[in-house]
Amino acid sequence: MMQNPEILYMVIPCYNEEAVLPETARRLKEKYQTLQSESWISPKSRIVFVNDGSKDATWNIIQQLHQQDPDFFSGINLAHNSGHQNAVLAGLMTVKEMCNMAITMDADLQDDVNAIDAMIAKYYEGNQIVYGVRSARKTDSFFKRVTAEGFYKFMKLMGADVVYNHADFRLMSRRVLQELSQFKEVNLFLRGMVPLIGFQSCNVYYERAERFAGESKYPLKKMISFAVNGITSFSTKPLKLITTLGFLMFLVSVAAFIWAFAVKIAGRSELGWSSTVCSIWLIGGLQLLCLGMIGEYVGKIYAEVKQRPRYIIAEFLNQSEEKSDS
Ligand code: UDP
Ligand code: MG
Repeated sequence: MMQNPEILYMVIPCYNEEAVLPETARRLKEKYQTLQSESWISPKSRIVFVNDGSKDATWNIIQQLHQQDPDFFSGINLAHNSGHQNAVLAGLMTVKEMCNMAITMDADLQDDVNAIDAMIAKYYEGNQIVYGVRSARKTDSFFKRVTAEGFYKFMKLMGADVVYNHADFRLMSRRVLQELSQFKEVNLFLRGMVPLIGFQSCNVYYERAERFAGESKYPLKKMISFAVNGITSFSTKPLKLITTLGFLMFLVSVAAFIWAFAVKIAGRSELGWSSTVCSIWLIGGLQLLCLGMIGEYVGKIYAEVKQRPRYIIAEFLNQSEEKSDS
């Protein structure tokens, strides 16, 4: 029970989620009703669905929800598909002055709606950021689990400080959102950016469920590009690795030179075709790899200097009129 319950806005990115959206809305509304009746959150709290350029009926469903239940549901329609991270940011930046705290959550009900209570409790205890962390991955396929956990470990190794097994289910205070708005980067990787903000934070553990319906919008190809983006946006370690690699190659070539010279002196110099061919391929491959790595960063700089908008909001359905708090 709170004397003056604070305003909670939830931001839910949705891309082709017609199959789950009605169920997600139902469960969240139920959660809001309980939280409000127990005076944990203000009646001015809202659930904001961000339509990320869906090709199915997602936006129609959001509009309907808003029409039927404007006291619970709001909607943001992005002008085109901008990607998960941008959709989340669009939502957060739109609501940051309307709420005291915001929770971001996927639309597919993989994140536990019941973990919201603990997150809010932690917020009232004084935490500015509360990370939702998966305690188990029982329901993920073996492949998804291994690749995802490998991803967190690799990220750490590469010098990007991320919270282990935390995706984008998190609570942030208004203060944190204001600080987040100062991050102007175009290559978004929220789970790397938010820990950089600092403030008092803590974790809330939950079991990750299976997607309620519909298909994952993150096929392997997108997962890899997400991982590469995360690393190259937060660490220059790969560039340093290139230098190390170049130095090692230099050492190897010195050894090879000595070896070749010794063979020559011993008078057996006709061998050597295979070693020549092998080294050509090896060096060629390494050079391409290093060029590619540098290219990744150059591409990043290109995207950043253009300073294009990270998302474009076409429409914002929100009825934030004062409700009588009785
Ligand atoms: N999503 C989005 N834009 C995209 C792709 C995904 O807004 O271009 C949303 C999607 O609707 C979901 C969340 O991002 O709410 C996470 O996507 P998904 O559940 O498919 O990823 P997974 O859990 O399989 O990694
Ligand atoms: Mg999912």
